[in-house]
Order: sequence, then structure tokens, then C-alpha cells
Amino acid sequence: MEWIVPILSTLVGFVIGSFLNVVIFRFNQPSLTVFKPSRSICLNCKKPIPWYDNIPVLSFVFLQGRCRYCQTKLSWRYPFIEALTAAGFLVNSLTFAFTLPFPLALVGADVLAGALIVLFFTDLDTMLISDANTAFVIAGCALLYLDQGLRIDHSIFLINLITALIAFSLIYILRLLFKIFGNKEAMGMVDIVLISALALALGPMKVNLAIIVACFTGILAALFFRKKLRDKIPFGPFIAVGGYTALIAGDAFLNLIGFMPYF
Ligand SMILES: [Zn+2]
Repeated sequence: MEWIVPILSTLVGFVIGSFLNVVIFRFNQPSLTVFKPSRSICLNCKKPIPWYDNIPVLSFVFLQGRCRYCQTKLSWRYPFIEALTAAGFLVNSLTFAFTLPFPLALVGADVLAGALIVLFFTDLDTMLISDANTAFVIAGCALLYLDQGLRIDHSIFLINLITALIAFSLIYILRLLFKIFGNKEAMGMVDIVLISALALALGPMKVNLAIIVACFTGILAALFFRKKLRDKIPFGPFIAVGGYTALIAGDAFLNLIGFMPYF
């Protein structure tokens, strides 16, 4: 029976991934919203895409990455985001227990994974993160926070809340100093809110891992993709990578380096 949750999670991940494609693709396009138009159309020939050409990953493979009608090449991003979301949901279902009556941690991790995927691509493309996107990150983190406090230890409520407040204050002060002395926007307010939300879900040990991974991947990307990424590099995508890495691999990492994990 234990294979049912991972399989269902993966299937749900494909469907949600298909929806996330719509959210990401229609972001920052004035004429489009997430719900309008309700059907996807081919950008080139404007023909509506029938349901059987909209099956996550499979349709892309079957159509060999081209529109059925006008043969325009479709972006590899569509199947990639669908597969990425499915993989994330599968990993979540293997990491977090399916607890009844309501699987707080699993739902929280899925909401967070989906929100981070949207954030990764929209921030990378436009250097913007929508408030709705930030709200979903906070909601996912809050569910994970609640689960740990209720199920594992009530003291986690206080510890993680203090961690989030310290993270917020420290980075806020750092940002202020950069502004005063360097006359530079070192980091957006949204980035600070995101890190604080992650601190609430991850707690004092794992949030450090998230920040280290975010900085490390950010520096690597800056070195390798300097020309592609223009002068300003968004930090959101790397916060997303760091946050999710710490969520899934945090305990294993802390064990590895000899810390006693809190949770
Ligand atoms: Zn077409």
C-alpha cells in the first residue's frame, strides 16, 4: 500500500506542473491572466490546443516538440517544468509522511515546491516575484512549521519563530548598511521575506544550509553565465534552490557534518 502515495503524488505533480507552466508563461503579460483564456493556444497559429495535445510530457514527446497544426517548435521548458514538478512531488512523498487526517507536512512541502518552481523561472526571466507567489511560499512554510510544532515538539514553535525573526532582522540591517555605505540595493525586500519564511519552516540549523547553498549556486551561476544573466542577477532562484535542498537534504547533511539535528 505504501507505493500508492508516491505514485499518486507523482501523477498530481504532472498535472500541477502543467498548471505551473501556465502561471509562469502568462506571468507579466498584460493581456493574459492565469484563468483567461481558459484554454491554451498555440502562440504561432493561435489554434486552441486540444486536451489530447496537452497531456504532461507525453504530448510533447508524441508531437516531437512541435505544434500539431503549424509545426512551430515548442519550448523544452514545458515538459521540463512538468517533469520537475512531478519529481519534486515524488521526492516530497518519500521524505514526508502521509499523516491523517490531514498530511500537513506533505501538503506544505508540495505547496512550497510548486511556489519555488514558479519563483525560480519568473524571477530568472523578469527579475520580478509576484505577491501571490510570495504568499504561496509563506503558506507552504507555515504548514511545515505547524506540522513540526504539533507533531514533533511544541518548543519548535518558539525556536523557529525566533530563527525567522533573527534572519529577517540580520538581513534587513545588512541591506540597510549596503544602502547607506555602498549606495546599492543588495537584496530586494521580497528576498528577505522569502528567507525568513524558509527559516520558519527549516529552523536554526537547516536555514544556514539553505543560505550557504543559495550563495554557492549564485556565485557559480554568476561565474558561468555572466553574459546571459546581464549585470544584475536575481537572487530568488538561488534562494529557491537553497531552500528546497535544505528541506529535503537538511537532516542528512547535518548528520554528515556531525551536528545533532534538532528535528
Ligand atoms: Zn501552431
